[in-house]
Amino acid sequence: PAIELDEVVKEYVSHGEVVQAVKGVSMTIGEGEFFSLLGPSGCGKTTSMRMIAGFEEPTTGVVRLHGQDVTNVPPNKRDVNMVFQSYALFPHMNVWDNVAFGLKRKKVPDGEVRRRVGEMLEIVDLVGREKRRPREMSGGQQQRVALARALVNRPRALLLDEPLGALDLKLRQHMQIELKRIQREVGITFVYVTHDQSEALTMSDRIAVMNDGLVEQLAGPREIYERPATKFVAGFIGTSNLLSGVARAVNGSSAVLALGPEDRVIVPIKEAVAEGDTVELTVRPEKIMISTERPEGDLSMVEGTVSEVVYLGTYNSYAVALAGGAEITVFQQNVHDSTTTAERGDTVWLSWQPQHSY
Ligand code: ADP
Ligand code: MG
Repeated sequence: PAIELDEVVKEYVSHGEVVQAVKGVSMTIGEGEFFSLLGPSGCGKTTSMRMIAGFEEPTTGVVRLHGQDVTNVPPNKRDVNMVFQSYALFPHMNVWDNVAFGLKRKKVPDGEVRRRVGEMLEIVDLVGREKRRPREMSGGQQQRVALARALVNRPRALLLDEPLGALDLKLRQHMQIELKRIQREVGITFVYVTHDQSEALTMSDRIAVMNDGLVEQLAGPREIYERPATKFVAGFIGTSNLLSGVARAVNGSSAVLALGPEDRVIVPIKEAVAEGDTVELTVRPEKIMISTERPEGDLSMVEGTVSEVVYLGTYNSYAVALAGGAEITVFQQNVHDSTTTAERGDTVWLSWQPQHSY
């Protein structure tokens, strides 16, 4: 593995009080992997990253790079490089000199500097811009210069802390694809910090979802989206509906929740559940079908009233109020003319495959 965190804890003392920024995090990041740390602001992403880079020492726990314990090794002796949101380019130097700076300082021969800088500018698509100063470039271009400057040293891993945070949405989406392409091309390990779930889902091979100093789930994007391990992950990634009801018929692997009198919600159960227990479940908006008649078959189904319809181009978003007071969001693709169109105030049935509840 390229990077290992083993039960890493980081405590800060702030105004006489101990703050645990990271509360015991373990993870193994593979060579060449695009790995993201995802979570809300303050959950410990930057602190974890800084311990990998060596800017912070863990209070307890071990950091390993390529199998070697580097817990107490300074940053300049670690074979990793970091890119920040503020690009930290030298304003008085042009693009070429910014990228070449580290190599020249290391006394790399001129010919090799030329070759490596040229190659890197090609990868980040800045050929022809060599003479520009940072202020003469767009945010996206400056970010690519920062990337080239970090990669030209050929670190074995690159750490990126919210590197696209300063860019507007369109450019950010473009750079997400670019970053993924560049990572594939150079083939080195990327550790990417973001609080933006769509960004992490788009680019990552695997994601560690963090909350309050801990990793709540570590898995591939699809697994995290389709099988969130905790309520926090379900709520943080994408849109989720949270329902709760009293378990009625429990038969080992599933229970039926009592919601409305005609409703039937089948939930797969993970822990011991007895009749009369309150059980919570989540279901994604796009897994729910909406119809004006009670559907047939072994589906979970609930009855409700449409309280809002929002047209969003490729799909409609419905808000449906259930008798018990819960509100459910449903996304329905606008595929063909045959798409059911329920309107505000309509009584509708919502149904989904039981395996889409978790
Ligand atoms: P994130 O990058 O996920 O937003 P951070 O790792 O920056 O989170 O911070 C995690 C927690 O640690 C926060 O509560 C933050 O206030 C605290 N923290 C971070 N750095 C320091 C520091 N140098 N001194 C005291 N507290 C800190
Ligand atoms: Mg941060």
